[in-house]
Amino acid sequence: MLVVLMGPPGAGKGTQAERITKEFNLLHISTGDILRNAVKEETALGLQAKQYMDRGALVPDEIVVGMIRERLARPDCAAGVLLDGFPRTVEQAEALGQVLESLQLKIDVVINVDVEAEELLSRLTGRRVCRNCGATYHIKFNPPRVRNICDHCSGELYQRSDDTVETVKERLDVYSKQTLPLIEYYQRKNLYYAVDGARSIDDVFADIAAYLQGKQ
Ligand code: ADP
Ligand code: AMP
Repeated sequence: MLVVLMGPPGAGKGTQAERITKEFNLLHISTGDILRNAVKEETALGLQAKQYMDRGALVPDEIVVGMIRERLARPDCAAGVLLDGFPRTVEQAEALGQVLESLQLKIDVVINVDVEAEELLSRLTGRRVCRNCGATYHIKFNPPRVRNICDHCSGELYQRSDDTVETVKERLDVYSKQTLPLIEYYQRKNLYYAVDGARSIDDVFADIAAYLQGKQ
């Protein structure tokens, strides 16, 4: 099964991806995670991407598409994949279609987690991430058992450098202008399923899981 998980920044894609991939045995591919890792490792790709990520802009399509093309061609994708944070522009969606065709794969469903802007701002500014395993928390909505310590691996929690009020506003603006048109794009292809993301993490997951069960 190949699932695309979309939605504005902070909608809960990473949080839901963690659960969906476990339940449905899918490989989690997050372009944001791949890019942050490249920035951390200071690779050529990371150095290039950082300047865009720091100001809340999208990394150019050709860079991200190249990354995804290489990742999807690896054999571990055969069992099933959940794409998180890609595609983010119509151009990326078109390129994804071509990459999948060349690999004789196709998208089964595009799930859009929808949440309004005001809620997204408080979700993103309160987000904390484990430096070690990448698990996501929220200081109010999903706090760790011990402050700043990961429940799973005892790693240290940190705040992403792009989760400041100013950068979040820019990212939400970029989402409206560049990513929102993808909804219509996938609606026209009859692949689109909308989920109300303004509910508890458990309720959102129950909705997605019930839908995916029907697709298996
Ligand atoms: P995305 O991957 O879409 O950017 P995340 O999964 O990282 O979003 O979630 C953003 C923040 O909101 C995190 O701090 C997360 O703990 C919190 N969060 C996720 N889902 C919910 C929810 N349903 N209700 C409240 N907070 C949530
Ligand atoms: P995310 O972790 O999905 O919130 O992404 C963090 C940042 O990485 C974004 O603000 C972009 O700068 C960059 N990024 C992630 N995925 C993409 C993508 N598909 N296209 C362009 N830039 C991306």
